[in-house]
Amino acid sequence: MQTTVSPSTTPKGDTRLRPLVDMKSVSKIFSNGTLALADMSLKVESGEFVSLLGPSGCGKSTALRIIAGLGDASTGTIDWPSSRINSKGLPDGDISFVFQEPTLMPWQTVFGNVYLPLKLRGVPKSGCRDAIMETLATVGLEDFADAYPRELSGGMKMRVSIARALVTKPKLLLMDEPFAALDEITRQKLNDDVLRLWQETGITVIFVTHSVFESAYLSNRIVVMKARPGRVHADFPLVTSLSRDAYYRTSEEYRQACETVSKTLLDAMGGEEH
Ligand code: ADP
Repeated sequence: MQTTVSPSTTPKGDTRLRPLVDMKSVSKIFSNGTLALADMSLKVESGEFVSLLGPSGCGKSTALRIIAGLGDASTGTIDWPSSRINSKGLPDGDISFVFQEPTLMPWQTVFGNVYLPLKLRGVPKSGCRDAIMETLATVGLEDFADAYPRELSGGMKMRVSIARALVTKPKLLLMDEPFAALDEITRQKLNDDVLRLWQETGITVIFVTHSVFESAYLSNRIVVMKARPGRVHADFPLVTSLSRDAYYRTSEEYRQACETVSKTLLDAMGGEEH
């Protein structure tokens, strides 16, 4: 089953928009012969929050890494119809990646860690102090600029990682199971932070998860993947009139969304229990 979402389901509802990223018939065979992705196509419009959901090993990370240019497709293409492309075939400065681990430099302060992507672009520290402090404020860490990673909780480290991804003001944020290692309460708080940032900035998010609950809470579109080889099994919008908050988590609408997503995932897994 592959249901294509019409562009009119995007938050902006603007059918004239060209997709931000257009993944066309991408396959990936690793050197050990593993066929990780087969003929995967995915168009993502500006402003969407898309969750890539599927069982472990179905190719979610591989797809995300190929979109980010961190790995090559064996066949197929990734197009960026609405961006200027650099010599590496990627939209210049438009993509940021958040990994499952915060991957902070322990010898640098929070400020120094968030400065890194700007430093790599040759921006002098004096010229971006305000931008860094503003970005830290968006993740609630403005009072921790001088702290070192060892002084922070797991959730705070992940907030630094998100700030580092946002400081360059990317159009597309790719998140690879960023909250999988966090406790449930911290995870829910960070889910709310990411939703707020998405709403405030209009950034496009592709979020890899294997959590039905997380995908149903966060996304306005869910792409369920199937394994061996990885491919799209279902692609559908999740529309709600409610704001996604603590109330939504206990609403009948959220319960129904979780049920729909869960059934689709089960179907993708050929009826196995997840
Ligand atoms: P997911 O993110 O859905 O858990 P992955 O994209 O990590 O799945 O992996 C998809 C498949 O590709 C798995 O079978 C995995 O073992 C395999 N795989 C991932 N990376 C490599 C690699 N570098 N070399 C060989 N096989 C890999």
